[in-house]
Amino acid sequence: MTSRTGSAPRIDLHTHSTASDGTLTPAELVRAGAEAGLDVLAITDHDTTAGWAPAVRALPPGLLLVRGAELSCRWAGTQSATPLHLLAYLFDPEHPELVAELARVRAAREERGERIVDLLRADGIDVSWPDILTGAAGGTVGRPHIAQALIRAGLVADTRAAFGPDWLGERYRLPKEDIDVFRAVRLVRAAGGVAVFAHPRATRRGRVVPDELIAELAAAGLAGLEADHEDHSPAERAHVRSLAAELDLLVTGSSDFHGTHKTVQLGAFTTGVEAYERIVAAGVTEVASA
Ligand code: AMP
Ligand code: ZN
Ligand code: FE
Ligand code: FE
Repeated sequence: MTSRTGSAPRIDLHTHSTASDGTLTPAELVRAGAEAGLDVLAITDHDTTAGWAPAVRALPPGLLLVRGAELSCRWAGTQSATPLHLLAYLFDPEHPELVAELARVRAAREERGERIVDLLRADGIDVSWPDILTGAAGGTVGRPHIAQALIRAGLVADTRAAFGPDWLGERYRLPKEDIDVFRAVRLVRAAGGVAVFAHPRATRRGRVVPDELIAELAAAGLAGLEADHEDHSPAERAHVRSLAAELDLLVTGSSDFHGTHKTVQLGAFTTGVEAYERIVAAGVTEVASA
């Protein structure tokens, strides 16, 4: 493939819209992608494909859209399960088992969100679950929406502070019923999709899984690892790259853009064209273009 400018194509494979915890609508997201000079953008909202249709309808000429999702998973290999995120690309959005699993996780997110609010309220913190649901506007509810309520209440300055240890990062952190990661890889493959482990070494977010698990996931059908991500240090990026080389996994880089819920900008990290082409070749659905 060639880029619009004749230079190397700019490919960002991990972004969020208001279909989950981003702040741009799917239509605004694809327009912003074109304005940022991207050639390929993937929409990967948490546990939903609801943003796909509006993103396709608004797709500007020259921008290719990879339809994807970021699946909330857990690895049961530790005493309390370790949460992890799997990016799924180009899968059949009507695969019944996958559809059911995504709906279950979204319901579990609502249940957990309400329990977090109960904990906050029990400590006299005036946040309201109905307000938080209104803020999520029908998108997949996540802690960033609770963070917004803490900001509105004047308790923290920004999302980063809301994820500090006194708030959603530790004290008011509760687990949710995520998808077993091996089941998730199998389901994504059964639905014709391509699975890439999102920010696998992001130690600043908490516990990460051992390399041995990544090797087992590769054997189960995982296709790639996200190496270039703002939550990875340079050493963590290098480690992910060498692990990917060892396991013959493709390597991606992406912004994990969330609009104003994070500071990172579209295209801040990008994916090479060979990795992109491997994903496209392996996926059952077509990349969308205007
Ligand atoms: P949840 O999916 O509800 O568990 O919330 C996780 C989401 O919160 C991630 O996808 C990020 O968008 C966001 N997040 C996690 N950690 C941080 C952080 N330290 N600062 C800002 N946003 C974060
Ligand atoms: Zn998010
Ligand atoms: Fe993630
Ligand atoms: Fe993400």
